[in-house]
Amino acid sequence: MALRIGVDLGGTKIEALALGEDGRELLRRRIATPRDDYAGTLRAVTDLVLDLERELQAKASVGIGMPGALSPATGLVKNANSTWLNGQALDRDLSALLRRPLRFANDANCFALSEATDGAAAGATIVFGVIVGTGTGGGVVVNGRVLTGPNAIAGEWGHNALPWPEDAERPGPFCYCGRAGCIETFLSGPGLARDHEAASGESLTGEDVARRANKGDAAADASLARYESRMARALASVVNVLDPDVIVLGGGLSNVGRLYRNVPRLWPRFVFSDRVDTRLVPPKHGDSSGVRGAAWLW
Ligand SMILES: [Zn+2]
Repeated sequence: MALRIGVDLGGTKIEALALGEDGRELLRRRIATPRDDYAGTLRAVTDLVLDLERELQAKASVGIGMPGALSPATGLVKNANSTWLNGQALDRDLSALLRRPLRFANDANCFALSEATDGAAAGATIVFGVIVGTGTGGGVVVNGRVLTGPNAIAGEWGHNALPWPEDAERPGPFCYCGRAGCIETFLSGPGLARDHEAASGESLTGEDVARRANKGDAAADASLARYESRMARALASVVNVLDPDVIVLGGGLSNVGRLYRNVPRLWPRFVFSDRVDTRLVPPKHGDSSGVRGAAWLW
């Protein structure tokens, strides 16, 4: 039996999942991440994998979903918000401990791969997975394979500028990447919260803005409408480059049902085509996508 183990190495928890050949979940384990402790993090991942294998009495392929990326140039971790991983040879160190080659991908790529393999975009040729939560990430899967590149940033559209900006959207909020007006500053949960507070004076989370809009609150409804316009423009620019069959949303704001109706209604104005057949869909696997996608790296 081909046993696959996926590990989701997060900033607060590490989760491991064993999948059978047919994608059925066999076993799942979750522990707290040893924060700021690189050696402890290596040990924790190793123990989780070996425990699952011992229990299932089989050796598995192992894929790791991680924050940031392995730099193709140096092989070291970069761009991880779990900062104690940055600059470390995570691949070499974990491969040595687990005595096998490993495959790595960032969280957004794992999400896209999971949904493309047996989720909301199963069977689609070109899939763009978007995470709209604390930040805004993206991943591209083509013919069932994660698209990577020489910089390991394929799909990272969150730090492109918001396209077709209106006057009030320029220069846009300051972004931690050093620029202003990035898509992430508008489409992340904190981005929606900031925009709503600037317009209404109310301090709410992005998800609460959506909940209030759902109940007919006029200010929240206006904020969500601005959000939909921005998402339509931001995704239209992806459609113009990549022409995906399916765009899957993940993260906290993927629970906002009206996005799936309103955004595709708005994006034809910006897509260079007589009609737009791209589908915008909610995720199937939700919070499990990271760990499932990591398993599907093999
Ligand atoms: Zn940025």
